[in-house]
Amino acid sequence: MDKIFVMNLGTTSFKFKLYAWETEDPKVLAAGELESIGAQESAWEISYPGGEPKSGKTPIADHGMAFEHCFAILQADGILKDLDDLTAVGYKAVHGGNLSGTCLVDDALIAEMERVTPFAPAHNPIYLNAMKNIRSRFPGLTQVARFETSFHGSIPAPRVTYGVPYQWQQEVGIRRYGFHGSSHQYISQTVAKLQPGARKIINCHLGGSSSICAILDGKSVATSMGATLQSGLFNNNRVGDFEAFCIKPVMDHYGYTLDETLEILSKKSGLLGLSGVSNDLRLVMDAAAEGNAQAQLAVETLADNILGYIGMYAAYLNGLDALVFTGGIGTNSSLLRQMVCENLGYLGLKLDARKNDGRGDGCISTEDSAVKVWRLKTDEESVVAACVREYLHP
Ligand code: AMP
Repeated sequence: MDKIFVMNLGTTSFKFKLYAWETEDPKVLAAGELESIGAQESAWEISYPGGEPKSGKTPIADHGMAFEHCFAILQADGILKDLDDLTAVGYKAVHGGNLSGTCLVDDALIAEMERVTPFAPAHNPIYLNAMKNIRSRFPGLTQVARFETSFHGSIPAPRVTYGVPYQWQQEVGIRRYGFHGSSHQYISQTVAKLQPGARKIINCHLGGSSSICAILDGKSVATSMGATLQSGLFNNNRVGDFEAFCIKPVMDHYGYTLDETLEILSKKSGLLGLSGVSNDLRLVMDAAAEGNAQAQLAVETLADNILGYIGMYAAYLNGLDALVFTGGIGTNSSLLRQMVCENLGYLGLKLDARKNDGRGDGCISTEDSAVKVWRLKTDEESVVAACVREYLHP
């Protein structure tokens, strides 16, 4: 029986799900999360289906140690017998440069991820550290990466091309890659089951990090993030699309270095920078409701940004069968969904106000809407797990 341990890593966080295949349908044997890696104490929680979660606090220095800690608990609880009982670990890895799809973690993969780290400076180093750590602690363990860029390999050339000197693409890799591939792929596969015959889908993955994807016949044909995760929609803390020629006037005005300016654009911009309130849309919406005009502008700008991409992608798709909202914002904010859908009547899209105010997975458009609107929870780890298994048993 295959058992695959899927990791989703943040700078100081570690999330995992352990999958097992007794039949063709995988089962989740365990799921867990560690926070504050590198701090004096890290809080951890592990749960098994149908059971009460276990939790505790312990010092965890790095992501390799986090894996070791979770593995020891799974072993003590009889979920994994030993290392040989684990078929592989799988990573929801971010930027693989010229590597795409699902790949074995080896020296060549590590070198390519290191080469493109300047394009994903907040994400690639975390995965590289974990891969190296786990390789040195558990040398026999098979490690496989599924890149977040993978689903977007089908985007046509003109939509991954920037208007820069041609050789920049060849020599520096300046082109769109797109990210959140596992989430967009999961939604594509889920809509195929829920709405058979839906060929033209736009998925709005809106959360701490956001992107929109146009999907035609199960394949990505456009996405809002580009060469880096900074582009496209403005995110909770990130700028999104921004004019390169504004960087110099900002540096000159405030006396910032280039690095300081880029730091602000990636960490103190987006919802946080524009609202001046928070990077959490809930708090920004609360402030807007209390009359904070800056917060109101931030909410309206976000909704307008999303609407613009939907309009562009409906044109790329030459129509629309399904519009999906996923991610923490997409699934939870009925107000944002309503603000976005308000201007989509020209597509024949009609949001059902009562269903939009509800919760859980489901269709939230009216019976007679020409475009079905869905609120769906994403499941990126299940896509990584399935891809890793397919890679191991082609
Ligand atoms: P994710 O990264 O997908 O887990 O999404 C996390 C984000 O979802 C948080 O930063 C919040 O801003 C946002 N969020 C969660 N619930 C709500 C809500 N009810 N309304 C607006 N935003 C929400």
